[in-house]
Amino acid sequence: MVLTLELPVIETKQETPDVKSVKLGFDGQKFDYKPGQYMMMELDVDDPEKGNTRPLSIASSPTEDFLLFSTKISQSLFKQKYNSLRIGNKVKLKGPMGVFVLKEDAKEIIFLGGGIGITPFRDMIKYASDKKLPVKITLIYSNKTPDDIVYKDEWNVFERENPNFKVIHTITQEGTDWQGRTGRIDEAMIREFSSDINNTIYYICGPLGMVDSLSNLLKTMNIPLQNIKIEKFVGY
Ligand SMILES: Cc1cc2nc3c(=O)[nH]c(=O)nc-3n(C[C@H](O)[C@H](O)[C@H](O)COP(=O)(O)OP(=O)(O)OC[C@H]3O[C@@H](n4cnc5c(N)ncnc54)[C@H](O)[C@@H]3O)c2cc1C
Repeated sequence: MVLTLELPVIETKQETPDVKSVKLGFDGQKFDYKPGQYMMMELDVDDPEKGNTRPLSIASSPTEDFLLFSTKISQSLFKQKYNSLRIGNKVKLKGPMGVFVLKEDAKEIIFLGGGIGITPFRDMIKYASDKKLPVKITLIYSNKTPDDIVYKDEWNVFERENPNFKVIHTITQEGTDWQGRTGRIDEAMIREFSSDINNTIYYICGPLGMVDSLSNLLKTMNIPLQNIKIEKFVGY
């Protein structure tokens, strides 16, 4: 059921130089949603061209007692208003919506994320951990620089909470002091972390170009189409 809600900001956090999170309280209006779904957020802006709503993935799991959103701050009026939200402000939401949701009975899942395209994955990974789902999960998370990693401190906590979960960071920009893996997500990386590539469910989320190139890569690897789930963040 699609709900219309107005929920209070309980916390804001600068996750990276250009990504900001807003945590909302349920205020007695906790509702059901599937991990991976999104909401339409409405802010009080007058933008005749782009409007006053944006779809934003829910980054918190239904097992948590708050709603988390994170977005890249741009020059748009909507994002400037979002950036100015303070504790106690009310935010209008419509939802939940979307079919990019966790396949709870999967044996193995690989999440392929880039930059801000991580939001629904935090939701799904936290949910699988809290529910102790017996699914092997690998997150391959690509960012330009180490400073761009969203929810940076949480990934290791999730790994400790869930022995079936592993995060692999890869950094694409040369010349940083990153000691770990570098370069774009490629076939070798996917093969390295999948025990059985044909029986793994792949989730891809991010800007259009990234989603298209990774889903094409999986297709050239002959991954069954029904095992590839995509969410495109239009607008980037
Ligand atoms: C299902 C779904 C889930 C999504 N989830 C998320 C999410 O979790 N997090 C997230 O960040 N995004 C998410 N998106 C994308 C999001 O909805 C927006 O489309 C995106 O954030 C761009 O919005 P914007 O307001 O920054 O840019 P828009 O207003 O859409 O404009 C597009 C571009 O024009 C530029 N621009 C706009 N106005 C101005 C101006 N006045 N001056 C200069 N430049 C300007 C912006 O910088 C931007 O680059 C999701 C999209 C979908 C479809």
